[in-house]
Amino acid sequence: MRIAVFGTGYLGATHAACMAELGHEVLGVDIDESKLEKLSSGEVPFYEPGLSEVLTRNVESGRLRFTSSYSEAAEFAEAHFIAVGTPQRKGEYGADVSFVDAVVDTLVPRLNRSAVIFGKSTVPVGTATRLSELARSLALPGVEVEISWNPEFLREGFAVQDTLHPDRIVLGVGPQASDAVQYAKEIYASLLGDGVPFLVTDLATAELVKASANAFLATKISFINAIAEVCDAAGADVTVLADAIGYDERIGRKFLNAGVGFGGGCLPKDIRAFMARAGELGADEALTFLREVDAINMRRRIRMVEMAREACGGSLLGSRVAVLGAAFKPNSDDVRDSPALNVAGQIQLQGAAVTVFDPKAMENSRVLFPTLNYATSIEDACAGADVLLVLTEWSEFRRIDPASLASVVRRKVIIDGRNCLDVATWVDGGWKYRGMGRAR
Ligand code: NAD
Repeated sequence: MRIAVFGTGYLGATHAACMAELGHEVLGVDIDESKLEKLSSGEVPFYEPGLSEVLTRNVESGRLRFTSSYSEAAEFAEAHFIAVGTPQRKGEYGADVSFVDAVVDTLVPRLNRSAVIFGKSTVPVGTATRLSELARSLALPGVEVEISWNPEFLREGFAVQDTLHPDRIVLGVGPQASDAVQYAKEIYASLLGDGVPFLVTDLATAELVKASANAFLATKISFINAIAEVCDAAGADVTVLADAIGYDERIGRKFLNAGVGFGGGCLPKDIRAFMARAGELGADEALTFLREVDAINMRRRIRMVEMAREACGGSLLGSRVAVLGAAFKPNSDDVRDSPALNVAGQIQLQGAAVTVFDPKAMENSRVLFPTLNYATSIEDACAGADVLLVLTEWSEFRRIDPASLASVVRRKVIIDGRNCLDVATWVDGGWKYRGMGRAR
């Protein structure tokens, strides 16, 4: 198939490269020329394990190209994927879908033969139906443009694996006879051959599947973080508790790691957009619990700042704080709404000198928080520190030998904001260890 992918960020670049890997001819389209230049030369503009190899292989084979020309894409492809951003609107909860609208506005009048547009971006329910009407009004006479929704569930850090081996493929189609199902079956033929479940739904259900999946994951994280607050108050250990309840298959252990909470370019804005949309539909009561999920999550950041202040003797003024981790999660350089950077920023505002180290997210962090200090290594970040905070669970940090930092820091105090370290190793090494929601 000849495929165009509009938006070549974390989602779009991965999707474009993986569709080429499946044997399709793919054109990635973006408005950011510098991004296109990098991608065209086989360079991934962000960190995603394994993507570089897939990109290079397919750019070199000629199956994958990039352009800023919508006309070229309209001429080239029969299937078009929308993968542009849908950020939170400034000062509101709702999603800004103007980038998605812009793709349809720009692409559809340029199509001179019938085509299917697959939305992959996460959008408020009702968007696809609205876009179907918009496409109908913009299409040239005799040209049929079908809008379908094919939400994406990939996880940054596992994006290639998740795209080539998804848990399921969901496709929402409109009430009229659909070409989208046939196109999708061709595009994803090898995945369907591997037995990946394929669910064809109406448009609204497909949009809601994605919103609900993210709302559930966010709720699971905030649930365990709320329990961590109680564990803190009662002197219990939330990590043992999570292990114990996680053995119950109905509960499961995944996403039950208490810590500084969730962040990134998806969960926070998606639960807010979901609440906003439910309100517009008159179903706001149904999702008021997500307000609490959000509030619990934001409290974790405040709690971490408090713990750092306590560790510095009650005031952060004049203290030195080492922060290990800046990305919102390991194996990513994404710092959008990152709890780690947010905490680092708050601590600095309270008068501490904060030095941050992250294996991959330094460049993005500098752009977002230029006033923090950035170190070139773990040791460098910890030099003279009164307290060391681990805020992203990179395996590099889990493997740190406490002895290697003992003579570097001013005080041997560590706060494990992800409950990811081996407590005994640090305590035996003479460190004062504190986790989140743990008795010690
Ligand atoms: P991103 O910001 O990394 O990428 C968006 C890209 O779209 C940018 O490169 C931008 O330049 C480009 N763009 C903006 N306007 C454009 C236009 N008119 N034409 C062409 N390109 C344009 O965002 P992302 O993280 O890739 O997310 C994209 C969407 O996918 C969002 O709706 C997000 O919620 C959803 N999603 C993301 C992930 C993830 O892990 N990142 C997972 C599932 C779903």
